[in-house]
Amino acid sequence: MPEPIHAQRSSSSTTLARVDAAVVGGGPAGLMAARALKARGVDFVVLDKKAAIGWPLACGEGILLHEIESLDLDFDPRAYGTLSHRQVFLYGRIRKRFSIDTFELDRPRFEQRLAEPVLKEILLGTRVNDVRETREAVFLETDRGTVVARVAILAKGPDNRLPIQLGLASKKQEMVVAYGGRYEGCRIPDLTWTIDLVEGLDTLSYFWIFPSSETRANVGLGYLNRPNLGINLREEFAKVVARHAALAGARMTLEVGGSIPVSGAIDRTYSDRILACGDFAGQVGALGDGIYYAMAAGKLAGEVASDAIETGRVQASTLAAYESRWKAAFSGPLEAGLSFRRILDWAVRAGIARPLVRFLPAPLGPAILFGGHLRRTLGLIERTLDRLAR
Ligand SMILES: Cc1cc2nc3c(=O)[nH]c(=O)nc-3n(C[C@H](O)[C@H](O)[C@H](O)COP(=O)(O)OP(=O)(O)OC[C@H]3O[C@@H](n4cnc5c(N)ncnc54)[C@H](O)[C@@H]3O)c2cc1C
Repeated sequence: MPEPIHAQRSSSSTTLARVDAAVVGGGPAGLMAARALKARGVDFVVLDKKAAIGWPLACGEGILLHEIESLDLDFDPRAYGTLSHRQVFLYGRIRKRFSIDTFELDRPRFEQRLAEPVLKEILLGTRVNDVRETREAVFLETDRGTVVARVAILAKGPDNRLPIQLGLASKKQEMVVAYGGRYEGCRIPDLTWTIDLVEGLDTLSYFWIFPSSETRANVGLGYLNRPNLGINLREEFAKVVARHAALAGARMTLEVGGSIPVSGAIDRTYSDRILACGDFAGQVGALGDGIYYAMAAGKLAGEVASDAIETGRVQASTLAAYESRWKAAFSGPLEAGLSFRRILDWAVRAGIARPLVRFLPAPLGPAILFGGHLRRTLGLIERTLDRLAR
């Protein structure tokens, strides 16, 4: 039996919607959650502040092919991007080539396709300013009025305030800040992906060239932010662009930039009526790769919310299934990635990154490639470095 939502006083005078589930954010996490709710016939809305699905673009758009294929979408994701089999990893003069299946998504077009089954439920131009959870419901205060929901799935991207306010996190996330854009006029005849661990910035930083054709690519530079670094991101980006022959004469056609939380998952991703997923929940890989984790988590959040609503048991003990399911699905790679990232950052700052990089088994998706015991070893190294640093 569904439980009734009792009328509650809210700080906003108008009620915009009263639904079983509200999804905040129509990015990869929110759209996957919405699709899962739709498949189960749940009454829901998706609230997003932006004016169009997929835009503005704030992403390098790179993903591993097997990750996106593992999501079992009802359409072929290969129609929404460019497959590549070659990658090169650079650090100063170290150059490593490897060959895995990487996929450069056309993310706006892909998200528009992802949104197709749930278009009716998406309220664009609707910014959520506050979230309050009570025993009876979740109240989402938006510019256009209050949305009252029995369950809220929070998938609103990076946020260092709300998770703490809701008691889901105890500390702020470290952020990678990134800048770049889509380029045309590149020369990448074999569609080789480039990841350049830029030397000399005194913090972990990486530059990417992810081609979508022989002449087009998504190009960017990200670095792990900390106080007093004094890095001018655009200037550094321009310097690195100038060093890459593939970009000689190329021009930027679309600017891309933003922050990526890289401290790992928040303490708790559920409460009595809330599920947190994607960047909002810190579900992001070692080098800021978050598309896959956001999608996988969003799907699980939608499924668990549907179960809770259908059975009338909207409570923490039911929603906890979400956390156990996403942890079983991908907390291993996430934690390994986090250890890897911390070790690499420590080595960069200590000026000893070269030997480490030389022996890296593979730079892309290290978390995925590392097996169980290697993961534990990484954790041990990280804790030892932590102790040494203190
Ligand atoms: C420059 C850059 C490059 C990146 N490159 C890659 C890459 O190559 N590969 C990869 O895997 N990952 C990459 N990432 C990370 C990846 O983009 C994120 O991990 C992914 O987008 C997370 O999806 P999400 O749905 O959790 O959040 P988002 O994609 O951020 O979606 C959140 C949605 O919530 C909406 N929203 C935000 N605030 C509100 C509000 N108050 N009210 C209503 N709606 C709101 C936003 O408009 C947005 O649509 C990159 C990130 C950046 C910034």
